[in-house]
Amino acid sequence: PPLYKQRYQFVKSLVEKHNPKKVADLGCSECSLLWKLKFCSSIEVLAGVDISEDVMKEKMHTLSPLPCEYLQPSWRSLVITLYQGSVAEKDPNLLGFDMITCIELIEHLEAKELAAFPEVIFGFWAPIMVVISTPNSEFNSLLPGVSLFRHLDHKFEWNKKEFESWALEAADCYGYTVEFTGVGKPPPGAESVGYCTQIGIFVRNYVETAEIVKHKMTTNHVYKTIFKAVY
Ligand code: SAM
Repeated sequence: PPLYKQRYQFVKSLVEKHNPKKVADLGCSECSLLWKLKFCSSIEVLAGVDISEDVMKEKMHTLSPLPCEYLQPSWRSLVITLYQGSVAEKDPNLLGFDMITCIELIEHLEAKELAAFPEVIFGFWAPIMVVISTPNSEFNSLLPGVSLFRHLDHKFEWNKKEFESWALEAADCYGYTVEFTGVGKPPPGAESVGYCTQIGIFVRNYVETAEIVKHKMTTNHVYKTIFKAVY
């Protein structure tokens, strides 16, 4: 399967393994991953965030319940919400989540946004698990026609060492443990290059008290809700 499908499948398998109830996808774009995740039975709250309202709106109607789902109320509750906003800004709507995914997002962030991001996701939202994927620049030599970056809009592409040191520093600073994996295996003989897409799985290694969450909830809302579906 194409690489983007392998990334979505990777997240879906992780959800099926850990059974999170509240999952958010940052940089959700056309909501393709959210659409796949709405079929995961553990999920009761699903949220998407993107800076671009237009790109989210393109296919967000696919997240609405089908007429048959209205007629035959489901055995579980599910609320899907889409927010327009930047991941460099704290918004209390994403507090208390079990899992937050960032698939091919960080390489689109400006230097200033990237610098603010760890404090927002690991410090403020502090979900139990974070999944971050980004291109592995070492793989680019194996891709036909890629000279500098895989996509014009990428602000950077990191090799394994660069991603791992960024991730380890953030994990260390905010009380997480991180493990590295990826999707898109290199061809035989080029194993040292690593995966085409590198992935960090971060797990929080402390318990957040209800008081702390309650206090964070008083932070001002900055995100704009652009869609809400209640199943
Ligand atoms: N996650 C999607 C997937 O895997 O199919 C696609 C990600 S797309 C390559 C990057 C997305 O990040 C774009 O939709 C873009 O609008 C969004 N984005 C860029 N900067 C952002 C920011 N500061 N806050 C939130 N979203 C941002």
